[in-house]
Amino acid sequence: MDLMYRSTRNEQNRVTASQAILKGLAEDGGLFVPEQIPKLELPLEKLGTMSYQETAYTVMSRFLTDYTEQELKTCINSAYDAKFDTSEIAPIREADGAYYLELFHGATIAFKDMALSILPYLMTTAAKKNHEDKEIVILTATSGDTGKAALAGFADVPGTKIIVFYPKNGVSAVQEKQMVTQKGANTCVIGIHGNFDDAQTGVKKLFGDVALGEVLARAGYRFSSANSINIGRLVPQIVYYVYAYGRLMKEGRIRPGDLINVVVPTGNFGNILAAYYAKCMGLPIARLVCASNENKVLYDFFQTGVYDRNREFILTSSPSMDILISSNLERLIYRMAGDDAKENARLMAELSSKGSYEINDSMKEAMRDFTGGFATMKDVTVEIAKLYEKTGYVLDTHTAVASCVYRTYKAQSGDHTPTVIASTASPYKFARSVMEAIDSKYAGMDDFELIDELSRISGTKVPRAIEEIRSAEVLHDEVIERTQMEAAVKEFLGIC
Ligand SMILES: *Cc1c(COP(=O)(O)O)cnc(C)c1O
Repeated sequence: MDLMYRSTRNEQNRVTASQAILKGLAEDGGLFVPEQIPKLELPLEKLGTMSYQETAYTVMSRFLTDYTEQELKTCINSAYDAKFDTSEIAPIREADGAYYLELFHGATIAFKDMALSILPYLMTTAAKKNHEDKEIVILTATSGDTGKAALAGFADVPGTKIIVFYPKNGVSAVQEKQMVTQKGANTCVIGIHGNFDDAQTGVKKLFGDVALGEVLARAGYRFSSANSINIGRLVPQIVYYVYAYGRLMKEGRIRPGDLINVVVPTGNFGNILAAYYAKCMGLPIARLVCASNENKVLYDFFQTGVYDRNREFILTSSPSMDILISSNLERLIYRMAGDDAKENARLMAELSSKGSYEINDSMKEAMRDFTGGFATMKDVTVEIAKLYEKTGYVLDTHTAVASCVYRTYKAQSGDHTPTVIASTASPYKFARSVMEAIDSKYAGMDDFELIDELSRISGTKVPRAIEEIRSAEVLHDEVIERTQMEAAVKEFLGIC
């Protein structure tokens, strides 16, 4: 029997895994969730002997049950190959008593590659399985990293087109350059005057627009999503937590069955939700620490049970976490409400009308595995400089948020459980903030000088992803108002 997925806002809306991946978002605005979270069903000892690809098959085959073994293995082997600059795919680095799980060795040097290098394969396979005759149009809002990773994954994939919206002044120089130089006739990159929430809300609205869906269908297109609202993004993200546990066993850092903590720099709540799903599968995770930057809506939520987006949106040095509406929290809310779609839909309606909602006491109690923490831009600067001086290891600004939150948590709680910190981006992607944190003398240098200097002081090679954009030509320069998103989509697709 196949594991089915249902919408968090209507339990009658049930689909298979491949259908959920094709749709991206449910028609009722809800997110697809598995009806049960499958168990690992594997002796933990075994994890220490498995490659990344083998771990991926073990985890993903439990969730994506309507894919054949052959289909899934082809997807996995096509995704996790030489696009990554290490055969380990996600290596672990120990520094100052914490384990940094480096998720940035893929094509675009951010953790989004972990899922977006496989999503195009999962999606085109899903299209074939479901006899989809329409061309898939991937519609994506990005806070900086998803956009490039999705573009790299979908560029020139037959039967697909991809449109990316990013906040014009809300991403780093390297992030923007990576996106606007993207090649591929099926790609479209557009800046909007607004922030990430505006882009994400605009995209969700286009998804929910029935009339637009009909116009699209007549022209031979259907929308899907590469954002972490797509369950095809989340499932591949569970893999690296399971893999990390195996690596720590193999290196003799933990014994099978030992508990670990996980700290995740969080924006849309996708990455940490994947860690929670890993825990539900049976991976021995004790605490899940959710680290925020100054946009600390999640920290406040875990403190008080009130989610309140009515606050100033702050542009920080960790732009991929500059988010006030964390879409994937809905999947946790649904589960904490006892898989109650009505209650979840009520809370989400409050969020959209009032900008806030409060969960009840039993839901608060159910969330006790989570701890929230936050770090300011100043904290991040100090954390990067301190760890570099002490160990020579250079963190990016997002990982530094998590690293700082971890040290505060450890000091306050006295919890010395071995801890994995999700390292979500290469420092090269945020070279300016990183280098200025290490020494203010770098303030006068240009972006590529900083990159070469970072290579020198860290003793690491400049990643291919950076070399590629040094001299690349800008191919996308459109910037629009957020009210013009629908028109821009129609124009790119040639629909009037
Ligand atoms: C996307 C991103 C995050 C936030 O991840 P979520 O899954 O949205 O919580 C953190 N750091 C970096 C570098 C990212 O690209």
